[in-house]
Amino acid sequence: MKSHAKVVVIGGGVVGCSVLFHLARHGWTDIVLLERDELTSGSTWHAAGGMHTINGDPNVAKLQKYTISLYKEIEELSGQATGVHLTGGVLLAATEARLDWLRGVVAKGRYLGIELEEISPAEAAELMPLLDPKQFVGAVRNKEDGHLDPSGVTHAYAKAARKLGAEVERFTKVEDIVRRADGLWRVITNKGEVVAEHVVNAGGLWAREVGRMVGLELPVLAMEHMYLITEDMPEVAAWNQKTGTEIIHAVDFDGELYLRQERGGMLMGTYEKANKPWSEFQTPWNFGHELLEPDIDRIAPSLEVGFRHFPAFQNTGIKQIINGPFTFAPDGNPLVGPVRGLPGFWVACGVMAGFSQGGGVGLALSNWMIEGDPGADIWAMDVSRYGDWATMAYTNAKVRENYSRRFSIRFPNEELPAGRPLKTTPVYDLLSDKGAQWGVAYGLEVPLWYAPEGVRDEFSWRRSSDFEHVANEVKTVREGVGLSEISSFAKYKVTGEGAAAWLDRLLACKLPRLGRMTLAPMLKEDGRLIGDFTLANLSSPNSERDGWFLAGSGVAEQYHMRWFEAHLPKDGSVSIEALGAKLTGLSIAGPSARNLLEKVTRSDVSNTAFPFMAISKMDIGMAPCLVGRVSYTGDLGYEIWVAPEYQRAAYQALMAAGEEFGIGLLGSRALNALRLEKNYGSWAREYRPIYGPLEAGLDRFVAYAKEADFIGKQAALAERKQGGRLRLRAFVVVDAVDADVIGDEPIWHGGAVRGWVTSGGYAHHSKKSVAIGYVPKEIADEADGFEIELLGKRHVARMQPVPLFDANFERMRG
Ligand SMILES: Cc1cc2nc3c(=O)[nH]c(=O)nc-3n(C[C@H](O)[C@H](O)[C@H](O)COP(=O)(O)OP(=O)(O)OC[C@H]3O[C@@H](n4cnc5c(N)ncnc54)[C@H](O)[C@@H]3O)c2cc1C
Repeated sequence: MKSHAKVVVIGGGVVGCSVLFHLARHGWTDIVLLERDELTSGSTWHAAGGMHTINGDPNVAKLQKYTISLYKEIEELSGQATGVHLTGGVLLAATEARLDWLRGVVAKGRYLGIELEEISPAEAAELMPLLDPKQFVGAVRNKEDGHLDPSGVTHAYAKAARKLGAEVERFTKVEDIVRRADGLWRVITNKGEVVAEHVVNAGGLWAREVGRMVGLELPVLAMEHMYLITEDMPEVAAWNQKTGTEIIHAVDFDGELYLRQERGGMLMGTYEKANKPWSEFQTPWNFGHELLEPDIDRIAPSLEVGFRHFPAFQNTGIKQIINGPFTFAPDGNPLVGPVRGLPGFWVACGVMAGFSQGGGVGLALSNWMIEGDPGADIWAMDVSRYGDWATMAYTNAKVRENYSRRFSIRFPNEELPAGRPLKTTPVYDLLSDKGAQWGVAYGLEVPLWYAPEGVRDEFSWRRSSDFEHVANEVKTVREGVGLSEISSFAKYKVTGEGAAAWLDRLLACKLPRLGRMTLAPMLKEDGRLIGDFTLANLSSPNSERDGWFLAGSGVAEQYHMRWFEAHLPKDGSVSIEALGAKLTGLSIAGPSARNLLEKVTRSDVSNTAFPFMAISKMDIGMAPCLVGRVSYTGDLGYEIWVAPEYQRAAYQALMAAGEEFGIGLLGSRALNALRLEKNYGSWAREYRPIYGPLEAGLDRFVAYAKEADFIGKQAALAERKQGGRLRLRAFVVVDAVDADVIGDEPIWHGGAVRGWVTSGGYAHHSKKSVAIGYVPKEIADEADGFEIELLGKRHVARMQPVPLFDANFERMRG
């Protein structure tokens, strides 16, 4: 075994082998994979080997498509058969709601290049002869589904990597990992030590234990999973003989089942409701090529549905039941990327569909390690989407919920209850008393809307029970004053003598003067966005104490801290702190907002003394606060930052004084309705790391001419010169009657899909259904010809270049 390597990959399952292959293909060959046993000794060897392109997240779907397209290449490169059978498949809906969901999947497929086609149950039965068409209301055909040989694929990755110069050491168990003072990693094994620049944790079933070696508690948990294999079936033989082809894959969502042919019989697997975690606290190191005891009672309810939906199963025997463990993250997506605070330590774990996702994970991670960027939008898989709040107990609750809902529909207005409430702010119970319906962002409870007694969300793809109540919240803001809880923003404090210079290089905007705020895009070296913030200058010439204040996307706190810390000067001249729950927030907005503020503070908040984008410390009632004159509602408004111990006092002072102005509470759904009619985008929706500032319409906040050589400046200048590829545009969906876009719908133009929706909804004040999305720049200024696909139907979409509300910014600035 070599003593030094650029990269050590820990784990020889399908994921570790894919990472090794991709690193080698990308040109890093001084790399070694360490496997404690034979390759495939974790969850890989007993997988059912199914592969699919579809995924709830379109970016993950793209990587799944890439994974499937890779198998031919690795087979040719390695000479190792992968056993790929691209049979195609049918996705089956037994309810109208499921069919609506499937139509959304078909629509997404159009801009992802995934060919999906809606077919009738009778047509599905012609393709998959075992199903009873009477049990279904519709189906979708996917030509890119199939299955493969799990061991063959893993060995093909490993052999192809070796041919390119990588090394694989089997029976080499990593026992400890220690960071040296010079930043290199000592990887200590039962056969000696390797010193490496980078370590990749692809430990699969043991990823948690490998993480613990460096003090990291990863939010992953293994679950038991069962599939059965039947005896040979005459129906299968007859079909094979008649058509000369295998029986294609089927996913029966309402039965929570997946099926495929396995030799002369069938394989049927299920994600049962009564699921069971495996090795909840510690995965045993002596677990090898072993299976778990099957428990047919647990899967019996699913099998009953399966036998009804696929009647031929009633006449056949079960040859074998496989029960094996594999790992999940709380939301079921992989955990990939560099780990904050551990430079050179990477993870590629929690991959629950290794044969659909392993290739994409390897590609993204190798790009990230070699180029400094994953090269794709992989937010849905980024390990930084979780913070310290994703504890072992939280993970346990969430993974079980996710497993049991693997094939369930999640409606756009549906909040999932497991692992909650976890983080709450001091006004939580006060808002609950007012009927707050809670959602969650980065582990924190956030009010979505306020329901009258007895009214709750009815889950639907269409406008629902909250519609009129959200409309009232919007009305309160536009006609009087509304109060919202905004603690879910991420808040950062930047201090130190080097703070201004550092921010000037980190952020693309011009730094604001003392007591002022500005919108601050943050770019990567490639000139694309990696953040958008509000930056406030609080540091007076006499005092560095208050420094600079940044507010940004709450869900991206860990993501941004990873970036900030990686770019901090090494001389200690700058410090940055994520304030998290140490600073809570309230916001008031609407034409009466100033009148209200005047009643609760002695500070001068007149338009002259405290204009738009001013920020200052002031007391609200008795509570010391930091108040900025800015509002995401696009109305006259203020954001009020307050230490948690004062949040209730500030809230009560505002609510009491607001009574005479008819103050009302609003949640994030009303806020969404308000920002849509202002054409405001937001991080993780409109602003993502694949778009440049010009494309995203944030170029007006980029100080291209400023002296500082900010990160991404040259690339941003090039984008401005060349014009980029895309443009963010707002549309009014003209004939949307009872449903609005939610995101990821295709935008049609000239009879073809040309773009995609990033977010949308109903703008209650303007009474318009609004969609925001990206289209190619060539058609971005065409007034007509756009259509947006909503629940399987194309609607005329009218471009809305100026905001529907307050296009001249009179309300906001007045
Ligand atoms: C019953 C069942 C059916 C499934 N069906 C499918 C399917 O149809 N399609 C699909 O895509 N997925 C399926 N899966 C999931 C699939 O198996 C996983 O997604 C995949 O195996 C994950 O691979 P991995 O490389 O991340 O982890 P693993 O396969 O667990 O690999 C991790 C490797 O790391 C090694 N290792 C760990 N710690 C150390 C250490 N300290 N030192 C050295 N080596 C170490 C282990 O020995 C192991 O070989 C199924 C899983 C099960 C259980």
